[in-house]
Amino acid sequence: MPKSTAVYPGFFDPFTLGHVNIVDRAKDVFDTVIVAISKDSNKDPLFSFDERMALAEEIFKGDQSVRVEPFQGLLVHYMEKNDYRTILRGLRTVSDFEYEFQMALANKTMSQHIETFFMMTDSRYSFISSTLIKEIARLGGSVDNMVPAIISAKLKDKF
Ligand code: ADP
Repeated sequence: MPKSTAVYPGFFDPFTLGHVNIVDRAKDVFDTVIVAISKDSNKDPLFSFDERMALAEEIFKGDQSVRVEPFQGLLVHYMEKNDYRTILRGLRTVSDFEYEFQMALANKTMSQHIETFFMMTDSRYSFISSTLIKEIARLGGSVDNMVPAIISAKLKDKF
């Protein structure tokens, strides 16, 4: 696997414009960006794993530099199995930092040769989280400027 591959892991329940922005900007730095969608969570997802995979594939359809892959279990195990070396994560707030710092150090302890790279959110998307999106949609608000059009349509179906 070439060095300039970044794995952008997450739950993506659902994908937001904040996520898309991180992927788009990462493409300027890395040859390939792999959106790695986690199957495991202690959260109860709104979108099933199959839906999250299908929607991410639809969002990046035709984009040669982005691949969508599933992973189950520990991220570092999936990375090692595929010989991936770089984790990409987005940062919005100080509270993101605390969590991400802990995760990056834990991952480093488990797998010495895997590095985590962080990208700051674009200020336009700094307030956007999947949780907030779901809450606004549930209460009947419009999230059109916060998520890709296909996600907005699916949220309308759900609520
Ligand atoms: P998690 O893996 O914690 O469930 P998500 O699936 O929501 O997180 O997001 C995956 C990654 O994208 C995380 O690194 C998260 O910090 C980042 N991210 C989420 N929303 C935004 C945003 N609006 N701007 C930049 N990065 C974001």
